[in-house]
Amino acid sequence: MAFLGVKSMIEDNYKQRGLRGKLVRKLRQKGIKDEKLLEAIGKVPRHVFFDDALLGHAYEDKAFPIGHGQTISQPYTVAFQTEKLEIQPGDKVLEIGTGSGYQACILLDMGAKVYTIEYNRNLYQHTREFLPSLGYHPFFFYGDGSKGLPVRAPYDKIIVTAGAPVVPDALIEQLAKGGILVIPVGDREKQKMVKIIKKDGKILREEFDFFSFVPLLGEQGWKS
Ligand code: SAM
Repeated sequence: MAFLGVKSMIEDNYKQRGLRGKLVRKLRQKGIKDEKLLEAIGKVPRHVFFDDALLGHAYEDKAFPIGHGQTISQPYTVAFQTEKLEIQPGDKVLEIGTGSGYQACILLDMGAKVYTIEYNRNLYQHTREFLPSLGYHPFFFYGDGSKGLPVRAPYDKIIVTAGAPVVPDALIEQLAKGGILVIPVGDREKQKMVKIIKKDGKILREEFDFFSFVPLLGEQGWKS
């Protein structure tokens, strides 16, 4: 299979497919169980999001720089957050922090309808052009996702892929009944993964391990 990306012709050969298979086995060992998610990770070509100089690292379980001072999250982090979202085919999902677009591809591959918002204009423009060239079509938005995306609310699921100082009220408001929000919350260095479920008029909160994300900027995020 070959992908026609912005970079020219991007190949997906047996070696890369083999490395993806290895990554899936590693994530399984680390406790990821959602088969549809593991299947998506086995399918989406992560190496096409990497600059040539870093290509050899594409299937390591690590975060990497993607330019514009931002990162593509570690595969385990993508898997952990996505599993907590309990994605069902047809779910309407808001992703805050489009970044490279890799997470959006995983969600689309699992059958979700994806709305993704990015605050960095260059990254937004780059990813909006690049993802369709791979055959992935989320709805792209540019702006401050710390306030959510009220024009398209409510959402079945909301995923925040940058570290927030608090859970923004606007995101809870924009969740549909029975909806799930997954958001890393803490200080600028490390954040606890938080899962919020809106159920029977109540807001349930679960907390998990610490992770380390780039900061969520904007009105309900960090100021700079
Ligand atoms: N989901 C991304 C991926 O698959 O590559 C990784 C996201 S990266 C770890 C975090 C992203 O959040 C950055 O691209 C950053 O510009 C973006 N961001 C930070 N604050 C934001 C905000 N208020 N609204 C939308 N995006 C924001």
